Amino acid sequence: MSLRFNAIENLSSQSLPRTEATPKITAIFNSNVFTLQVAREFLSDEAYKSLRASVKASQKIDRSMANQIANGLRAWAESKGVTHFTHWFQPLTGTTAEKHDSFFTLKSDGTPIEQFEGDALVQQEPDASSFPSGGLRATFEARGYTAWDPSSPAFIMEIGEGKTLCIPTIFVSYTGESLDYKAPLLKALEALNKAAVDVCNYFDKNITKVTPTLGWEQEYFLIDESLFNARPDLIMTGRTVFGHNSARNQQLEDHYFGSIPERLYAFMRDFEKESYKLGIPLRTRHNEVAPAQFECAPIFEEVGVAVDHNSLLMDIMDRVARRHKLRVLLHEKPFAGINGSGKHNNWSMATDTGVNLLAPGKTPKTNLMFLAFFVNTIKAVHDYADLMRASIASAQNDHRLGANEAPPAIISVFIGEYLTKVLNEIKERVTKKMDEADESLLKIEIHKSIPELLLDNTDRNRTSPFAFTGNKFEFRAVGSSANCANAMTVLNTIMAQTLKNFRKDVDALIEKGEKKEIAIMHTIREYIVASEKVLFEGDGYSEAWEKEAEKRGLPNVKTTPLALDAMVTEKAKDLFHNNHVYIHSELEARHEIELEKYIKKVQIESRIMGELATSHILPAAIRYQNLLANNIKGLKDAGLSEASYQHQKTILEEISVHINKTSELVEKMIEARKICNNMTHTRTKAIGYQSQVKDGFFDELRYHVDKLELLVDDKEWYLPKYREMLFLR
Ligand code: ADP
Ligand code: MG
Repeated sequence: MSLRFNAIENLSSQSLPRTEATPKITAIFNSNVFTLQVAREFLSDEAYKSLRASVKASQKIDRSMANQIANGLRAWAESKGVTHFTHWFQPLTGTTAEKHDSFFTLKSDGTPIEQFEGDALVQQEPDASSFPSGGLRATFEARGYTAWDPSSPAFIMEIGEGKTLCIPTIFVSYTGESLDYKAPLLKALEALNKAAVDVCNYFDKNITKVTPTLGWEQEYFLIDESLFNARPDLIMTGRTVFGHNSARNQQLEDHYFGSIPERLYAFMRDFEKESYKLGIPLRTRHNEVAPAQFECAPIFEEVGVAVDHNSLLMDIMDRVARRHKLRVLLHEKPFAGINGSGKHNNWSMATDTGVNLLAPGKTPKTNLMFLAFFVNTIKAVHDYADLMRASIASAQNDHRLGANEAPPAIISVFIGEYLTKVLNEIKERVTKKMDEADESLLKIEIHKSIPELLLDNTDRNRTSPFAFTGNKFEFRAVGSSANCANAMTVLNTIMAQTLKNFRKDVDALIEKGEKKEIAIMHTIREYIVASEKVLFEGDGYSEAWEKEAEKRGLPNVKTTPLALDAMVTEKAKDLFHNNHVYIHSELEARHEIELEKYIKKVQIESRIMGELATSHILPAAIRYQNLLANNIKGLKDAGLSEASYQHQKTILEEISVHINKTSELVEKMIEARKICNNMTHTRTKAIGYQSQVKDGFFDELRYHVDKLELLVDDKEWYLPKYREMLFLR
């Protein structure tokens, strides 16, 4: 029996795994995290103060304290049954990496002891030569090292009965170039902090720190493990390269917010429990639009911690799903014809005085501060839309962006009806000859026209890639499998640069003798005028918008190899250099890595398509073809007229056409790959893979295979069908 039918049979005989009742969340929340509260208990006063200072300032810990802190950490970890530790980091492969070492060691006289030294806590040198570096380590220095980032607390990862102390680290080369997602992110956050504080101080001198915040919404698909195992394409690429739509898809729209099936619910409770122990503040879970699609979202946190938590969550989900004989699909487009998955990045900035800078204020003055940050965000997106697009580009996300699906590849900003009105009013009324009375009148009127409960008034435009949703912007174009760090590094850097310019522009007017608030209003107006073409309130999926965007001169780059160009323009290099986020060589290395990732992904997809067609699809189709041919021959031999086997003949003809086309396309696709593989320039090769291999063959090959799926006897078909993967659980 084929894996497919085995899987279906398993499903109906399967009993639900027993799950324990979920404990009270507060009782387990953070129980596996070395929070400052725990540190207080396990560290001396001196060591605790030193650690706390490092955490608050996001700075390396004091080397002289490292041994004490390491001892405290070990004591805590051992009290929880931990035997090993690891530096945990986020390399550019897009997953997380660990290399476990045990506390166990032998003293010089051979006595076995458990120890954890400060040096091992602060810095490690993983043998990481196989992580992508875009040639950086080769150019500079062969080795890379991981260093503790105390802004993220240490935590204990439980895998089955095993427990490991994880030290969140950044990963850099010996000459200081970043080799991971986290190091540049921290630099971008610092750049934003400085620039934002400088602007905040126009309004409030007490603000000394601005912390960007992130709340992600993780979408995913869940399918049964044995069905997954019967789909080599899912195993190899995370998406189904073939598969005809099932008779019923998402058209009934009955899945969204529907009840969660019990088996999946058990999985969710289980991974949520693991997440709570690690301090991931999950808040919501629900069904998504497509069948078998779900979403979870936490309460927002500081960006650095939120990024770690998302990476951890993806890892936990995968592991816990296996425990439940399920598989989580984080791919952006696992199934053709139904919605893909994204990871909305809700983003804002908070001051150390407790103000959300993207929440409308309670007074005209705080409202002006809100408007300044609001308009600066729009300007940043306008000026660097190409970089935003590049930050979310991947082979997987190309299936969403620019492929008639949410959201489009055109980066635009949605702000809602009220704020559109407010911006128009500023544009019209802030004139050159404003005096103080005009100014204060306007400020009050504008204040009045922004409803206090904007949150409930914002229209929800689901088609915008970057939408204002009441007290935050929501970057919706981020892909479900992406590390949010990439998008967040870009967003915070472009915002930092824009705020720096804003401060300069306002100061210049003040120097010319303008009053501060009038100078601010004039600059806000200037920014609105300069960036309004990025604002769009309509349907982002419509063809009309594509045309309109083109007229406005907004970029619409549909494929990853071209979208990535934005990373290495002179403008991008200046931006990242001036904000101390990337030096030129780092950007070039990253550009190279992203292109290589793209090439590999498309190459693997193409190979698996060829393999499946040859070893799964064609044999089944040919067997059925034989059956029909023999049947016709038998009827003919028995002396029946052609009319009596007309039906068989028609199918036989159709099947033969699709068989021949499939095999011909597979051959040609292999030739196309060969040509691309001989290309030496990475960008050219990536474009080759996109235009010659992917665009050249994927859709057409799939068309013929999917036709065969409909024609061939169901019991001959080895690959689980869409209806089974999406509706059986
Ligand atoms: P939805 O977008 O589905 O309507 P919500 O608006 O309630 O859901 O929130 C979505 C996400 O936005 C949540 O993860 C939430 O934590 C996050 N969020 C809310 N406020 C902020 C903020 N100030 N900064 C960053 N994220 C935020
Ligand atoms: Mg949302």
